[in-house]
Amino acid sequence: MTRVAIVTGGTRGIGEAIALALRDKGYKVAAGYGGDDERAQEFTAATGIPAWKWNVGDHDSCRDAIGKIEKELGPADVLVNNAGITRDATMHKMTYTDWAEVIETNLSSCFNMSSPVFGGMRSRGFGRIVNIGSVNGQAGQYGQVNYAAAKSAIHGFTKALAQEGAGKGVTVNAIAPGYIDTDMVRKVPAHVLDKIVARIPVGRLGQGHEIARGVAFLVADDAGFITGSTLSINGGQHMY
Ligand code: NDP
Repeated sequence: MTRVAIVTGGTRGIGEAIALALRDKGYKVAAGYGGDDERAQEFTAATGIPAWKWNVGDHDSCRDAIGKIEKELGPADVLVNNAGITRDATMHKMTYTDWAEVIETNLSSCFNMSSPVFGGMRSRGFGRIVNIGSVNGQAGQYGQVNYAAAKSAIHGFTKALAQEGAGKGVTVNAIAPGYIDTDMVRKVPAHVLDKIVARIPVGRLGQGHEIARGVAFLVADDAGFITGSTLSINGGQHMY
């Protein structure tokens, strides 16, 4: 049986690695993205994975997109809530817009995407949801009150929803990545990044495929006893 997987933010960075890993394991994958059409077209041309554009922060857009994907590929068995953004600033400079955009894109997205698929997963007796949190949601981070709040809340969301799915074959887990070499991290000034890498015991940034490996593990058919957990993949930076 071919499983259908939806990966938000699946056209670049960590999401791209997740989409590729699931495709290589035989899943029918749909990748979502927010605005970069050129990147999405390149991704589809290179991988053969279809990409759909919608805003994960908007509930109706999520519902519409999931409807279209399920019509084309079949009911979603796997959902990876990966799309995320940063709008970093210290508290005295952070605007309400910085706060709200991060909460909508990184946290409300988990509700917006899970709500349309959860009923179907429960009624079919199988589902896998993985939410991508962050080491900065576990440990906090200077200049990231918005991001740390959203990512920290993802871990509560995961544990609560896991309890609702547990008796129906639906698992809900989170991964908390450390610093991974993607566009998001490349925006961090070099002198700040050097200090961060110096605090990672493994001595380097992580790679997208190292997060994808964790996702593939958690969504496997035989991972049904793993639910409500958070897998930290951070090079030893934060031992939670
Ligand atoms: P990138 O910035 O490289 O990619 C982000 C992806 O999310 C893109 O595909 C982007 O689409 C999509 N996206 C952004 N906003 C929206 C939106 N409103 N609606 C739909 N899609 C959207 O991020 P990373 O790969 O670095 O990060 C992926 C996840 O991992 C995020 O949740 C991030 O917070 C988390 N994470 C990352 C870490 C890191 O070190 N990189 C560390 C810990 C957690 P488009 O291309 O169209 O912009």
